[in-house]
Amino acid sequence: MEGAASAIVEVEGLSKTYPSGVEAVRGVDFEIRAGEVFGLIGPNGAGKSTTIGMLTTTVAPTRGRARLCGFDVAVDPLRARRASAVVCQGPSVDRALSGRMNMEVHARLWGVSHRAARIAEVVDAFGLSGILERPVATYSGGQRRRLEIARALLSNPRVLFLDEPTVGLDPRIRRELLDMLGLLRSAEEMSVLVTTHYLDEAERLCDRVAIMYQGRLAASGSPAQLRARLGQSIAELRVEQDPVKALAVLRAGGVAGHDAFQVGQTVTVPVHRGSPDDAAAELARLGIAVTGVSTRPPTLDDVYLQLTGERIAA
Ligand code: ADP
Repeated sequence: MEGAASAIVEVEGLSKTYPSGVEAVRGVDFEIRAGEVFGLIGPNGAGKSTTIGMLTTTVAPTRGRARLCGFDVAVDPLRARRASAVVCQGPSVDRALSGRMNMEVHARLWGVSHRAARIAEVVDAFGLSGILERPVATYSGGQRRRLEIARALLSNPRVLFLDEPTVGLDPRIRRELLDMLGLLRSAEEMSVLVTTHYLDEAERLCDRVAIMYQGRLAASGSPAQLRARLGQSIAELRVEQDPVKALAVLRAGGVAGHDAFQVGQTVTVPVHRGSPDDAAAELARLGIAVTGVSTRPPTLDDVYLQLTGERIAA
């Protein structure tokens, strides 16, 4: 299963500069293997949707290349598209039609064989049977999302693109959808590329994630590998005044490394050696008032903040 042979998505130096001059994607490289769930995380404007647009052949790359199941999106767009399915951010189902009609129309468009059986299968997997005959206009946001994802699966795609699948859903519905996506992973032989704002979601769902920032991939790896970059524990210090100075002092004293960072009044120090208490002791020694100290294991949030210097918008 290792190596290029099992890569379903291969992306090399992929770039997009829009005619307006915006360099939305600036040379990204990654691979998604068979059956793998790959998360692209990053703030608004990072270039995630543009990347999905290029992989689904709706946006023409400016440079680099991308292949799905070996088919180059620029050279062989029809074949590349047939290998994949996409669920975009905006609503894409016909609200006037019932769930079943939406499924039927999509299945016909995609030439799905054994249509009735396949519809029954995905309807069952997504718990849609009770609402299938109703017009989509009567669905809740979560129900509509489930229908959209189920519909995308009718064509048995080798790779599914999900652009912000849980945005705008309340936490309980978000959980339910994540559970379903988790089940789906084990049931279908499919790779998934999912973009998300929610780092906890990436942690739960993804085998590997890439952090995208200003059109580039700042880091990629399994959530555990990314967290391990910041060591075993994090010391978080709330300072009363001038957090920038506090960070500089900690670095100068060798207590904080280049991976320490500051957001608002909080200085976050990955602890690679010594004790998590050293940072607070150093600040106290220099007369810098600390109003709160906590230690905890690193999270994906820390990795994200450290790489981008920004808190991700929820
Ligand atoms: P994300 O999905 O991470 O929010 P996008 O790919 O939507 O990022 O956007 C990346 C950058 O490209 C942003 O600066 C955005 O304004 C710009 N952009 C996106 N689509 C277009 C377009 N069709 N024309 C010009 N600029 C665009």
